[in-house]
Formats: sequence, structure tokens, C-alpha cells
Amino acid sequence: MSDFKLGNIIIPEELPLVALKNTVLFPKVVIPLIVQRPKSIGALDHAMTRDHLVFFVTQKNIEDNVRRNDLFTVGTIGRIVSVFKMPDGSSKIDVEGLTRARIINFTSETPFFKIKAEPFSLMVRNGLEEKAFLRRATEQFKTVSEARSFPTILPEIIYMMMQLKDTEQIISLMTVNMNMAIEDQQRILELESSTDALRELNIGLIRELEIMEAEKSVTKETKKQIGKMQKELFLREQLKSIEKELGVEDEKGEMDILKSKIMAAGMPKDVHEKAIKELGRLGKMPSFNPEVSYLRTYLDWLVELPWSKKTKEKINLKEAEKILNEDHFGLNKVKERVLEFLAVQKQVGKLKGPILCFVGPPGTGKTSIGQSIARALGRKFIRVSLGGLRDEAEIRGHRRTYVGALPGRIVQGVHSTKVKNPVFMLDEIDKVGMDFRGDPSAALLEALDPQQNHAFSDHYLEVPFDLSDVMFITTANVLDTIPPALRDRLEIIEFPGYSEEEKFRIAKNFLLPKLYKDHGLKKKSLVFQDVALIDVVSKHTREAGVRDLERQLATIMRKVTRKLVESPSTKQITVTKDAIHKYLGPIKYTHQLAETKDEVGIVTGLGWTPVGGEVFSIEVTRMPGRGKLLLTGRLGLVMRESAQAALSFARTYAAKKGIKEDMDKSDIHIHIPSGAIKKDGPSAGVAITTALISLLLNKPARKEVAMTGEVTLRGKVLEIGGIKEKILAAHRAGIKTVVMPIENKKDLEDIPKEVRKDLKFVFAKTIDDILKTALKI
Ligand code: ADP
Repeated sequence: MSDFKLGNIIIPEELPLVALKNTVLFPKVVIPLIVQRPKSIGALDHAMTRDHLVFFVTQKNIEDNVRRNDLFTVGTIGRIVSVFKMPDGSSKIDVEGLTRARIINFTSETPFFKIKAEPFSLMVRNGLEEKAFLRRATEQFKTVSEARSFPTILPEIIYMMMQLKDTEQIISLMTVNMNMAIEDQQRILELESSTDALRELNIGLIRELEIMEAEKSVTKETKKQIGKMQKELFLREQLKSIEKELGVEDEKGEMDILKSKIMAAGMPKDVHEKAIKELGRLGKMPSFNPEVSYLRTYLDWLVELPWSKKTKEKINLKEAEKILNEDHFGLNKVKERVLEFLAVQKQVGKLKGPILCFVGPPGTGKTSIGQSIARALGRKFIRVSLGGLRDEAEIRGHRRTYVGALPGRIVQGVHSTKVKNPVFMLDEIDKVGMDFRGDPSAALLEALDPQQNHAFSDHYLEVPFDLSDVMFITTANVLDTIPPALRDRLEIIEFPGYSEEEKFRIAKNFLLPKLYKDHGLKKKSLVFQDVALIDVVSKHTREAGVRDLERQLATIMRKVTRKLVESPSTKQITVTKDAIHKYLGPIKYTHQLAETKDEVGIVTGLGWTPVGGEVFSIEVTRMPGRGKLLLTGRLGLVMRESAQAALSFARTYAAKKGIKEDMDKSDIHIHIPSGAIKKDGPSAGVAITTALISLLLNKPARKEVAMTGEVTLRGKVLEIGGIKEKILAAHRAGIKTVVMPIENKKDLEDIPKEVRKDLKFVFAKTIDDILKTALKI
């Protein structure tokens, strides 16, 4: 191979080599370069003493100490146009690319690379396809460079390129000015046909345009974001200055206040540490962080909880007895139990023992006894109802991660009293349910159990709270539905309900004076006749407690007050028996049971419900059929079974009495009215048996005889519960005779004297004793 001629330049077969880092030299362009490495400087000096020609080839990497394998094989032969030696030994040179060339072999490596190269030029076809590619590429290049306004692409270059006719030169210029990756530039350099090179360029340009579009939208989006943030920041700053103008404490001040509150809150050590830590976090948060308000609420809770504040406790039994009697009529057994309980507390020094549980129908004074206990002990009183509660979080609070999270009801209750030793009444614990949201009774247990409640864990607080100074009192209407684990810890005190006489006294001595005060009435201005009051008690209310009674009396009071206000000349109003009708409307309850005719198959029974005792009639009838037993009136399983047993007994009894019955030809229907109310239990056994026998013997049963008791298949009468409520209900309903199991005779002690006086009691051992009284046989 001999020298190569390019115009009037003769290119020798052997050339010094300069390796290029991050640059590709293209033919027909002039670029500036800095030559630094000793090998390169050697090659340069060598060339300068001769024909100024050097083979420039790009490195595959950025190694300083270049070896053969680090170099691509295709490069460009360039002519050094100018050299400027720098003080540090390096040179700034301008190089003009002449032609592509391929390395054939290396002829020497030291002191610099020398190679044998084979020049080759780009094959330009000038075909239609190529022209199209060329035009497209130039247009796109223009668009890109105009849009980008690259400092390297001067408008002159674009202008110049538009004028150029040499395809190779256009390709070179575009490639070096296009911000392409080195590998891509090298690939174009290695291509031998201009069509291929233009195709590559077009692809590169299209990609570049796409990137620019994407950049544009990103920029727009970013600008928008920044704009929004700046606006917010600006508004917040404004808000701050407005707050300052208005004298609202600035944040710094607020932090200081919060800190001093933490210091003064009397928290236990670990709680204190937690509060300080959270305060530090709060201080570091920018004010527009949404967590700021959650954290502040949390700290407010911590600060306001009574960690160590107490009311001074006094247990003076004489005083307590006085207060209980002052506030309540009767309830002697209850008062006695409460006083005993307090005496033990006084002796032990601290409340560590079972929790009181008041059980009884509504309106029997459970809450108000609780209030009196608080008054007697000089403690604050708080009452929280648990009725319908199913979610553990209601007791224990929600974790702070929940939006709108708060502590549970117990911590909230204590918080509202502002002391750590209130009397805390948990109402309706028999109505606490359990479902997928956890078991509230487990959390309740933890709160109530003196062994563990010194460190009650509330999910929201995250730190234990000491409940051991709280005096818990629970209330319930029934015992059955209280979860057994909970019931074990409770000391049950029963509130049985009041007789009419008791209600009359409560109304006269407690409810009326309270209502006078509530309505701003003077004793002189309203005279409530006793007979009128008795009528309200017996004809307008029928309940175990006195809630409805209180409501009815309040209705009368309101009407009287209005009259007094409307006619100032009236000095006094007397509420008479007749006036009651005017104020409260027609009589709601009569002693109708006792007043109606006796019938076959209808017997008066006594039942027990969560809201007190109840008088009901049991009806049985026979109809043509196939010997089936029909039961209606929402009867529970136990009651249904006891009805079956009663039927078996009744049949045997009838057979013994010589009554021949073809039972297969008729159905028996037993119905207990008030069908909407669920009824259960074995204590209707005697009443059902009596009704059936009355039917089978065709003997009417005495309606004014009310009965209760369980009965066996042999006719033995067994003891039952709830006697006091049942007897009171019988008395309210105007019953004259009550038949009950002989074993319940002991319960009569609890019955008020005036009730006992009005009733005749028959104590039954067997069903025969009952039939004697009810059917007169
Ligand atoms: P409970 O909590 O059992 O449902 P409350 O304690 O709310 O009933 O009683 C209802 C109303 O009846 C209250 O105003 C209460 O003061 C009054 N009360 C109930 N029992 C008595 C009583 N033995 N003596 C005086 N007032 C009573």
C-alpha cells in the first residue's frame, strides 16, 4: 500500500496516533482539542515536524494509559491547523478532519503510537431516498437547534449548513453538534454509506425532539408545582403576619406555653419524656405539615389529663349515711350494702376490691345513688353509657394513625373530670356486645381490674394511664348478659323496683321538691293534692322505677307554670284528682285484670322482664285438629318446653279425674299476649298448667289470683326468681291473691309492709295447692 492522495495533500502510509477521550473527530469539520497526555504530545510534536497529519481515534473508555484494545479501529485523519502551547506543557490545538480511516496495524507503541491506516471515504449516492433523508434531517436539525438554543450551535452554523452542498460535511457537522452519545457518533463515523448515516441521524434527531417535548411538559409541570408552593408559602407568611397583627400568639410562643404546660402536668417520668420528645418533633415540623395539628391535639390530651390531680378524699360513714338518706327514700338494703362497702374501703385505705354493680330496672335510682356516693366521698362524678358498644376501640381509643383518632371513653371520662379519682359510673354493662371489631369487655376488664388498672393502656395515648384511684361503679338491667369474666369481678347490688306506696312517697318527698325548684315554683303557688298524686302513680304510670312518673309530674308542672305566667293575678293553683285528667289525658292503666269476668282457660301469670315485673294472662283454647300443641306469643325455648311438660301433666290429671278425652281429634293452642315482647323461663309453668286444666275440666279460673312457679312432671312446684318484682307488679295491677312456691316464702321479707297488707299469699307445694285456690277444686 502506498501513500494516499486527498486533493493536494499526500497522506503517508504510517501516521502518529492521538487517542481521543469523549470526542469523535469527523472529516470536514474543524474542532479545538487539548492535548495533555505524554504519548499524545509526542505524537503531536512528531507530526508538527513533518506534515501536521495525525490519526485521531476515540477510546472505548476513559483510561489515561491507553492500550491498543482500548481504541476503536475507525478514526479520522486530521491536519493540525494551529497549536498553542500552554505553560503547563499541554497544547491547545485546532484540528481539521480530513478523511475516515481504518487501522490496519500498529507499527510502534513507544514513545507514541504509530499505525498504518487505510483511508476510506463516505459513499454518497445522491439518490432520491438519500435526498429525502437529507432534507428531513436538515429541517429537524434546524428545529432542534432553534428550540434548544444550544450555545454550541451558533446560528451561523445552521445558516452555513443550509448553504452546504457536501453531504459528508453536512453529516459531520450535524453529528458533532447534536449532543449525541459518543458510541452513537462513533457508529455513524464507521458507516460507509451516506444513506445509512442519514438514517441514523434522523433517528437520533427524532429521539431528540421527543425528549425535548417531554422536557417541555416536565418543565411546565414543575413550574406549576413551584408556583403553587410559592403561593402557599406566601399565603402562610401573610397569615402569620395577620395573626401577629391580631395579637394571636406566634408559634414560638405557643411551643413555650406547651412546654411549660408539660412541665406543670405532673406526668410520670416516662410520659414526661414522651411528651418532650413529641414536642421536639412538633417544633421541627413546618407549619403546613398536616401532622402538626394531630400532634398538637395529642399533646393537648397528654397535658390536660389529670396525671396526679386528685380531690381530697374523705370517708366519713356517718356523713355518707346522712347523704344517702337525704337523697333517697327507701332502698335500705342498697344503702346498707353501700355503707358496708365504704367501711371496708376506709379500713383498707385504698379501693382494692370488687367493683360495685347496681342491677335493676330503669328509674330505680341506680344513677342517683352513684351520685350520692360521689357526694359523700367528696369525689367528682362521671357517667358513661356503654349501651350498644361493640368496638374495643370505644373503650381503648383508636391508634393515632387513624384520622380523627381520640382516646377511648374511659380516658375521655377521666379527662372531663380533671381529677384522677372520680366516681366513674359505667352504665349498661349488660349491653356491651362483641363482634369482629374486638371484644370491648376484655378492655373493660383491664380498666376495672385493680390488679392491672394502674397501667391502663389506651391506644391513642400510647402511654399507660393510672386508673387505680378511680372508683368504678357499673349498672345493668339484667345479669345474664354480662360476660362471665366480668361478672366475677362485680359485687352485685340489686335495685328491685318500687311499690306504689313507695313511689307515692318518692314523688311527694323527692321528685316534687326537685321539680318545684327546676320550674321556679314556690310551695305556696302550687298545691298538689295527695289523692291526685296517687292517681298519677297508679293510673298514669306503670313501671318498676320512677322515670315515667317523674316525666308525667314534669308535664303537669310545665302546664301549671304556663298558667301562672300567663295570668299573673292567679296566686295559687291546686292540682286535684280531676285536674290530672285535664293535664295528662285519659287514664292509661286500670286494674282491669281484677275487674273482668273469670273464664275457662284464661289464667293470670306473673313474669319478670329487664324493666321490672309484669302481669300477663295465659290463654289456652282447643280446636278440632290432630292432637298438636300450638304455642304463640314469642316464647323462648325453655318456656316452650315447660308448656309441653304442662300439657303432659294436665292430660294425666284430667284422666285421673275421669275425663275421657280423645286428644287426637283436637289441637291445643297456648297464647301469651303482648306478642311483641320476648318471654322465656320456666316460671310460667304453673300458670300454663292451671290454664290447661281449667280448659280440660271446663272450670273457669279466678282472674284476681296471679301465680308464678316452675312445675315438674309429677306436679311439684319449684322455687323461682324475681319474686319482689313480680309481687310489686301484681300489686300495681290490683291483684288480690298471689300464689307462689313455698320455697319463695323467705323472699317476702323484702316486700314493703303496705304491699303485703293488701295481698293474700298462697304458698304452693304441689299443683293441687294452686288448683284449690285458682279453680276452687
Ligand atoms: P336509674 O339510674 O336506675 O335508671 P335514676 O337514678 O336515673 O335511675 O333515677 C331516676 C330518677 O328517680 C332520678 O331523678 C332519681 O333521683 C329518682 N329516684 C329514684 N329512686 C329514688 C329514691 N329511692 N328516692 C328518691 N329519688 C329517687
